[in-house]
Amino acid sequence: MVHPSWHDYPSLLEDLDTSKNRNLTFRGKPVKATDLAVGTNKKLDWRCSACEHQWSATGNDRVAGKGCPACANRVVHSDGRNSMANTHPELAKEYQGDATTVIAGTTKSLPWRCSACEHQWSATGNNRVAGKGCPACANQAVHSDGRNSMANTHPELAKEYQGTPPRSSQGPTRGSHGGAQPASTSGRQQGAIEWRVKAAQPARTRQSTPTAGTRWPTRTRGWPRSTRGTPPRSSQGQTRVSHGGAQPASTSGRQQGAVEWMVKAAQRARIE
Ligand SMILES: [Zn+2]
Ligand SMILES: [Zn+2]
Repeated sequence: MVHPSWHDYPSLLEDLDTSKNRNLTFRGKPVKATDLAVGTNKKLDWRCSACEHQWSATGNDRVAGKGCPACANRVVHSDGRNSMANTHPELAKEYQGDATTVIAGTTKSLPWRCSACEHQWSATGNNRVAGKGCPACANQAVHSDGRNSMANTHPELAKEYQGTPPRSSQGPTRGSHGGAQPASTSGRQQGAIEWRVKAAQPARTRQSTPTAGTRWPTRTRGWPRSTRGTPPRSSQGQTRVSHGGAQPASTSGRQQGAVEWMVKAAQRARIE
């Protein structure tokens, strides 16, 4: 049987990166890529003849049909054409990383910050591309400013809620579990009041927000240190107002500021 030669695979021959593949050897002797079998298990350097993306893969994988990962939309093209920044600029605004280096539809979990309410959460790019938005705006999580928390929307229930609001109320709450507790009631109410006061404070002074027992502790733990950063002033008053609706005229200025802030935050995170 005659082994297939490179000439049976003209497209692979075309993709071979001639500026690389310089240090190949066979039985200790330096060889050219084309001296190896086209289906070699050695990793070779390729440059996509369609998009010029450069990557490495075994000849074996190429013969088996694996092509350019950028053309397959698995990685960002060298010119960034399939990056989130290019394909989904609206998502890029909310992504808390460098949107020029990721594919919008990635199945990886990414950090986001809602441009309407500033809530921070994580979700796969995949989910976002499919249309899943901010869980706080969908009332599935407490807004960063606590506006839809039980403490704000149902203060009477909040008084009776036995969950663990943040730090201040832990002592009295724990002890009063189950049944009427006249003696500790005032202490518990005091805790609830402190909790509500905290919930009413501006979002950025708190790391996390009390809610009806949902996921707030885990969400904050995983966040990069960069989230401590303060977004530009321009994004503050306005975003609250524009919640859920069409963006006002100054959107582009706000975007610019947010992008600059994200870049800085990303840089800071790398340094730290
Ligand atoms: Zn390609
Ligand atoms: Zn939101």
